[in-house]
Amino acid sequence: AAAAKALHDGLVVASHGRHCLVETPTGERLICHPRGKKSQAVVGDRVHWQASEDEGTIEQVLPRRNLFYRQDEIRTKSFAANLDHVLILIAAEPEFSEHQLARALIAAEAERITPIIALNKSDLVEPFERAWTKLAPYRRMHHGVLPLSLKASGEADYASLMKLLAGKSTLVLGPSGSGKSTLTNLLVPGATVLTQEISQALNSGKHTTTSTTWYWIDEARTTGLIDSPGFQEFGLNHIAPMQLAGLMPDIAEHANDCKFYNCTHLHEPGCGVIANVETASSGPGAISASRYKIYGELFAELSQKRY
Ligand code: GDP
Ligand code: ZN
Repeated sequence: AAAAKALHDGLVVASHGRHCLVETPTGERLICHPRGKKSQAVVGDRVHWQASEDEGTIEQVLPRRNLFYRQDEIRTKSFAANLDHVLILIAAEPEFSEHQLARALIAAEAERITPIIALNKSDLVEPFERAWTKLAPYRRMHHGVLPLSLKASGEADYASLMKLLAGKSTLVLGPSGSGKSTLTNLLVPGATVLTQEISQALNSGKHTTTSTTWYWIDEARTTGLIDSPGFQEFGLNHIAPMQLAGLMPDIAEHANDCKFYNCTHLHEPGCGVIANVETASSGPGAISASRYKIYGELFAELSQKRY
């Protein structure tokens, strides 16, 4: 009678509050609840679960490769784990915030996740050119920028995107209006309806959307796409101010030239970063004035969070 129940493998594909939707290796899905605080799982988590009536109990969350955070007014909360890529989808229109883009890149860098920046709506010629120019510092970085038109050019354009995504799990982020739902619905026909069904199941029939959902874009279930609304509230609270420069590759490149090992690159004499911003502000390998400004803003923000 007291025999231990079997533990099963699962992947968390959606969550709402303390409820999770867990997918089994054969593709069935069931609602699970965590056992205690220790088994609190997020989308992308691999878990061990145990059957209990028609639902399940998560007994263990397996060790994570990485963990992503979001931030509301009050606190920082984890929301996705075990990602290979972060796809930052911005568009020619509406105009994107460089500050938000930089935040997302830093968050990815901090978790050692490869970011992909895609600039959508290349069919809108003039706004696209403006945005492409604004992205010059990002095009110079290791990840580059992928031009894209989800609406106009279809196949050819996202063939290169598909190549990047294949066999990986990718979190899609971006400001409202950039084309995230267009992308999801292109890659996962019926995604919107599926999300609504999942939300209702997890939230006892109420019409709300879950914050994060995992989709498979291939039948073999090897390529995962994770949708999550919200961009501005990217959680960076877990990053110390002195770590920041190391997470911005263009700034890190010049931080070795500083006179002081603990240089903040804000006001010190003999700072390699400041020297670069002042002298080389448009040449190749230069830190752009806008990037340096963002560095200063984020440094101040992260410093405040400590007290
Ligand atoms: P989301 O808020 O990020 O989910 O953005 P949506 O997917 O809802 O797209 C916002 C609007 O941009 C919609 O009207 C789309 O039809 C449109 N849109 C998406 N991709 C393209 C594109 O490549 N070119 C143009 N011109 N419009 C697009
Ligand atoms: Zn310095």
